[in-house]
Amino acid sequence: MTGSSQAARRGRVVVVGSANVDLVVDVPRHPGGGETILGGDLRRSPGGKGANQAVAAARAGGADTSFVGALGRDESGELLLASLDRAGVRTDLVERVEAPTGTALITVSPDGENAIVVAPGANSHVRIGAAQADRLAAADVVLAQLEIPLDVVLAAAAARRPGAVLALNAAPSRDLPDEMWAALDLLVVNEHEALDLAGGPADPAGTASPDPVERLAAVLLERVPAVVVTLGGAGCLVAQRGAAPVRVPAPRVDAVDTTGAGDTFCGVLAAALAGGSTLVDAARTASFAGALAVTRPGAQDAVPTADEVTTFAHPEQLP
Ligand code: ADP
Repeated sequence: MTGSSQAARRGRVVVVGSANVDLVVDVPRHPGGGETILGGDLRRSPGGKGANQAVAAARAGGADTSFVGALGRDESGELLLASLDRAGVRTDLVERVEAPTGTALITVSPDGENAIVVAPGANSHVRIGAAQADRLAAADVVLAQLEIPLDVVLAAAAARRPGAVLALNAAPSRDLPDEMWAALDLLVVNEHEALDLAGGPADPAGTASPDPVERLAAVLLERVPAVVVTLGGAGCLVAQRGAAPVRVPAPRVDAVDTTGAGDTFCGVLAAALAGGSTLVDAARTASFAGALAVTRPGAQDAVPTADEVTTFAHPEQLP
């Protein structure tokens, strides 16, 4: 181990989630209803929150990473499988199903704003069978998001061994049933998702903090033992029951494309936790990885390597 924020060992992460092919077109402006406009060239790249986070846990986080997901028997499925394989993700538990691979239709306006429609397709068919349950039972960290049916996330939670961490990136945001809250060890959300889950701006009794993000985190801590709220270029807030909240700044970078920053952050956070890092140290490493991801276009294509993250986080170690 060469730095305090580096994982002590290669932990085991299982990511349960979606895989989408992203179809991206630059547009002069987003079209209104009934309107047709001409855009730029079509770009096709591997995405989906689950697959992005698995790629990040393996490539940027260096974890032994398995992906539990579903792909169609189509060319998009091959594109995603190739991307996961390239990153070193174990794909033996990915099922090929009789539905088209999940697809995200994305238009990007000149100010960088995205408009996205997702056709879930194969993602609606993700399941926890015996083989998936066995792998989940051997994981140090199980990481899920909300682009697959909630029942599947609950089944994954039930399959993990006692002591394994269940981390949920609650995106896209939706209400969570009590059963889900009860199973969670760690919630990772951006500020919008935190607001949605907390049920609006918060002012709980006994929270002296004037900081609105800390107040939101305090509300969420009533339901889950630990919360990380990501704040884009402002870094993140790490809040744990019984401890003072900690702000982790993000390094300054020239942002090119913020797609996948949150996913890179989540994957690396899970990998570092699986390797034995504390939550605050894991968030520091994840911040460096997230910042590097925004300097490159694409989702999975923007995920840095573990060496790039280490060099960025510890420039003093450069020869
Ligand atoms: P999401 O994409 O889910 O909304 P955020 O935008 O909060 O997530 O980004 C996740 C993490 O990525 C941040 O906590 C930060 O570490 C890093 N990050 C995102 N945007 C930037 C940026 N402009 N500069 C530096 N780091 C960034």
